[in-house]
Amino acid sequence: MSTFVRDPCGFICIVITYIAVFYADYVVVKWVVMQTMQDSLWAPFHVVLFNTVIFLVSFSHLRAMCSDPGAVPLPQTRMDFSDIHSGSNAALLQNEDWTVCTRCETYRPPRAHHCRICKRCIRRMDHHCPWINNCVGERNQKYFIQFLVYVGVLSTYAIVLVVVSWVRPCLDCSTEITVKQSRILHCIILVMESSLFGIFVMAILYDQLEAIANDETTIEQLQGPQGNVSWHKVVMSHICRLPCYNTVGPTRSSGNTHSV
Ligand SMILES: [Zn+2]
Ligand SMILES: [Zn+2]
Repeated sequence: MSTFVRDPCGFICIVITYIAVFYADYVVVKWVVMQTMQDSLWAPFHVVLFNTVIFLVSFSHLRAMCSDPGAVPLPQTRMDFSDIHSGSNAALLQNEDWTVCTRCETYRPPRAHHCRICKRCIRRMDHHCPWINNCVGERNQKYFIQFLVYVGVLSTYAIVLVVVSWVRPCLDCSTEITVKQSRILHCIILVMESSLFGIFVMAILYDQLEAIANDETTIEQLQGPQGNVSWHKVVMSHICRLPCYNTVGPTRSSGNTHSV
């Protein structure tokens, strides 16, 4: 099942992501490769390789964005919530580790959480990521991790190309002052953009791999004892949610319901 979440903040983040990726492509091809290696075989090599990584970034992003993160199926008929207030049924649900979501009115398996943005309960929900406009859950986490790895590779590749183009002596480079100024400006913006995205995705990738190694999702870590949560995880969870999500935060579970 494919999904597409109608969230204005997610749309804005997707547009920013693709503008950043295609701007990087423009600078690398026009202002780095074509300006400094135009007579070398390295030019087509780097253009093809850089665009291959961009294709992998876009492909993994689309898969993470459009895949079902593991939404719990909605019931065919409306649930009778009078049941869950009776002591016996509540105890039964507790014992089985299944909980009731009163927002989407369904029974859900252990470790599933409700996402207010997707308006669904997601199996093993890690967090809602506006950059893929989707939840990161049981079924799309692998695509999300692939996306992080490829963005990390792309950022590193862009920085290395810019540094090499300035360090290497260039006899064929244009000496025209306006061309040189434009090249400097585009290269500075690209290095800043690549550093920002590179550090950001590496930090999230570290968190994701740590969460997998510990078999604990980001939500579960944030809901656990506050002393055990590293400061960078708290910072990352706020950056990931962005100001438009400041009302959407992990809250401690109460009774049979969770809300994230
Ligand atoms: Zn729900
Ligand atoms: Zn979500």
